[in-house]
Amino acid sequence: MTQDELFKVLVAHCKEYGFIFPSSEIYDGLAAVYDYGQNGVELKNNIKSYWWAAMTRLHENIVGIDSCVFMHPKTWVASGHVAAFNDPLIDNKDSKKRYRADNLIEDYLGKIEEKIEKEVAKGRKRFGDAFNEEQFRATNPNVLREKTKYDEVHARYLEAENNNDLKAYRDIIMDCGIVCPISGTANWTDVRQFNLMFSTAISNTGASDDKIYLRPETAQGIFVEYLNVQKTGRMKIPFGIAQIGKAFRNEIVARQFIFRMREFEQMEMEFFCRPGTEMEWFNKWKENRMKWHVSLGMGAGNYRFHDHEKLAHYANAATDIEFNFPFGFKELEGIHSRTDFDLGNHQRLSGKKIQYFDPETNESYVPYCVETSIGVDRMFLAVLSHSYKMEKLEGGDSRVVLSIPAPLAPVKVAVLPLVNKDGLPEKAQEVMNELRFDFRCQYDPKDSIGKRYRRQDAIGTPFCVTIDNDTMNDNSVTVRERDTMEQKRVPIAELRSIIDKEVNMNNLLRKL
Ligand code: ATP
Repeated sequence: MTQDELFKVLVAHCKEYGFIFPSSEIYDGLAAVYDYGQNGVELKNNIKSYWWAAMTRLHENIVGIDSCVFMHPKTWVASGHVAAFNDPLIDNKDSKKRYRADNLIEDYLGKIEEKIEKEVAKGRKRFGDAFNEEQFRATNPNVLREKTKYDEVHARYLEAENNNDLKAYRDIIMDCGIVCPISGTANWTDVRQFNLMFSTAISNTGASDDKIYLRPETAQGIFVEYLNVQKTGRMKIPFGIAQIGKAFRNEIVARQFIFRMREFEQMEMEFFCRPGTEMEWFNKWKENRMKWHVSLGMGAGNYRFHDHEKLAHYANAATDIEFNFPFGFKELEGIHSRTDFDLGNHQRLSGKKIQYFDPETNESYVPYCVETSIGVDRMFLAVLSHSYKMEKLEGGDSRVVLSIPAPLAPVKVAVLPLVNKDGLPEKAQEVMNELRFDFRCQYDPKDSIGKRYRRQDAIGTPFCVTIDNDTMNDNSVTVRERDTMEQKRVPIAELRSIIDKEVNMNNLLRKL
């Protein structure tokens, strides 16, 4: 199965098992807007809990807030979003499909990189132990040809980005022969700027000065509450403010399921520090956030840093943590050193003094800020795409299993009476009543035990507990583990601790 097909299967699985539904599906859906179903919301909440605990419980100097989606319109002038939150868009006249010009070029560059890596892999296979990768990359004619092409296009792309030169974007697309994947033609329009903010009106007068925006990031809520939190929380620099909340962007291209949505959720933390110390904090937060990801056990090799060559107007350093999604390595989280750009601009536009008096240096200053910003939905997609497995079993059978990290699984334990009689359902309810205070449990009395196991595998339940006739005599049950499918007999009295050992989120937190 190709990665593309696998992705389609995953999307279908998400719907079939109550993880994600297209929004307003009875009206044929709404592009790039999705609802989370009964299992999806649990996984999503667990991701958020893990992040929230890692930020606010493991750091005494990080507190959380919950600010509103609607903010004073001047917020977005100060943040630069009114003037500069634009993407370059281009339309294909034949397919009528719209694309981000920068993404078309990035994909083109990505394909060249893939070609180079394929050549290197071929070389490695051919030369075996004698393979010298550095020498191969420096001398192989195919690699050199692709590398020259890459460097040329990349240099032009950076220049176009830096100068915000829309014509230059189009020239690159035409010169490289980049075609629309739908129509296969290069019949492109000019490139135009497109502001990504949604707007609405706050009152019903409809006057233009009533216009307000749906926040395109949660960070500004933190900046405008900086003074309140610092004063009321008696926070001393360095300290951080964390927030989880919805953000809205009128994305031009929204074709990658929940990777790019128009309404999505962010988990952002702004860490305020003394000017001049920001690079130290930037590096610490890079390390800290990578550790958080790797702690989930989804393979350190599936993450990489991608340092930004072109910095946003507010940043003096920036990197992305990229994840190996089914469609390649893509941004999962951004870490930015935002200087005093945001607080400084809010100070200027609001006329309120946003300064910190540092008792250690006897100076007042606008704090510098390092931001970590991750999309909940992208994290959800990373977990699900990594967890989804089709396995062949002994005897020709097969199963689909979601090997979701156990503390994040929507249901932690399924309680299954072997038969729906002889007092087994009542006993199963007794076990449920014992476990439900610690774990999210599901009771399932229907169908053969094999079918019930498959149903739980498909939603990633780490444990199934089967109640049978012996249970009635000796108070023992069969516990089946999701990934190994191993079964063992254990006393009911030990169930809680056996399950807890695997699913307790503190196990993850202790690794940080
Ligand atoms: P991209 O380059 O992919 O558009 P970005 O650099 O604009 O992302 P940021 O503004 O840094 O993204 O936002 C921080 C995080 O929010 C991203 O790393 C991503 O996880 C998430 N995010 C941003 N836009 C979306 C979206 N449209 N849908 C889902 N998640 C998003």
